[in-house]
Amino acid sequence: MKNVGVIGSGTMGNGIAHVFAQNGYNVHLIDIKQDALDRALQVIAKNFDRQIAKGKISEDVKTDSLNRIETFTNVLTGVAGCDLVVEAATERLDLKKKIFQEVDQAAPEHCILATNTSSISITELAAATKRPEMVIGMHFMNPVPVMKLVEIITGYCTSKEVTDTIEKLSIDIGKVPAMANDYPGFIANRILMPMINEAIYTLFEGAGGVNEIDTVMKLGMAHPMGPLQLADFIGLDVCKAILDVLYTGFGNPKYAPCPLLVNMVNAGKLGVKSGEGFYNWSHGTKELVVSSSFGE
Ligand code: NAD
Repeated sequence: MKNVGVIGSGTMGNGIAHVFAQNGYNVHLIDIKQDALDRALQVIAKNFDRQIAKGKISEDVKTDSLNRIETFTNVLTGVAGCDLVVEAATERLDLKKKIFQEVDQAAPEHCILATNTSSISITELAAATKRPEMVIGMHFMNPVPVMKLVEIITGYCTSKEVTDTIEKLSIDIGKVPAMANDYPGFIANRILMPMINEAIYTLFEGAGGVNEIDTVMKLGMAHPMGPLQLADFIGLDVCKAILDVLYTGFGNPKYAPCPLLVNMVNAGKLGVKSGEGFYNWSHGTKELVVSSSFGE
């Protein structure tokens, strides 16, 4: 495997491109927006600078890695000649299905099609292609260059050969793979999202305030970050969307998003990306929301 296509150059796509390029793969970074590609290259360069400052890599590694990344605004051209494509575009089923259909037509026959989806069924995406046995989930964590885990999700039709190849490849790029089957939320979000939802219920029902809930989980459970702060980082809309997938997929009310989460999403309070969620981020730092309706 030499040439890796990465579709979507946002938060995850640029991190995935970074890691493959650093490990010697030629990367075709593809996005529909030229400005997203330009921004991604800047972010990647800055993240390499951080690794240099920490003494983890040399200036040469940065230069060589950046030289291995080529950008494309056309999916069909971008995936030509790729041995693996990792799709990391916006989390929408209709969009991802369309991308998988296009990639299936344009990518070489031997090319494995992976998706970085957080919650969409691998089996359903595979069904949009004529090579369902070659479709697999590669769920990287944010920030990709730093986080060791890659959750590998086998769809209903994914072949053992493809699974083994992706497992070995993940180790080759310095990650630790954990294998999961294709059920809603896979492993990571099936466990993380109910915890975040329960933290929101704890706030909603007045058992504790924002600061108390996060402090208990940080200092009491040794989590590096409290669940409400983490929800702000992930994006409250994303948390709600994943909980909806769990709720619909299992038909179990225990996954229903907390009414407070639903209200906040409807009000546009999405966390860091909108400037306010459980905390106020508009000044670039984490501040408690003082005049909120939920008690701080
Ligand atoms: P993002 O919004 O930062 O980036 C998405 C990019 O996809 C954008 O640059 C957009 O222009 C591009 N795009 C949209 N349609 C496209 C198309 N047809 N062809 C090519 N590019 C297209 O999103 P993100 O946070 O990087 O998430 C990407 C994927 O990774 C999603 O499936 C998400 O669920 C998953 N994921 C996200 C995180 C996270 O913490 N952000 C963690 C794990 C997995």
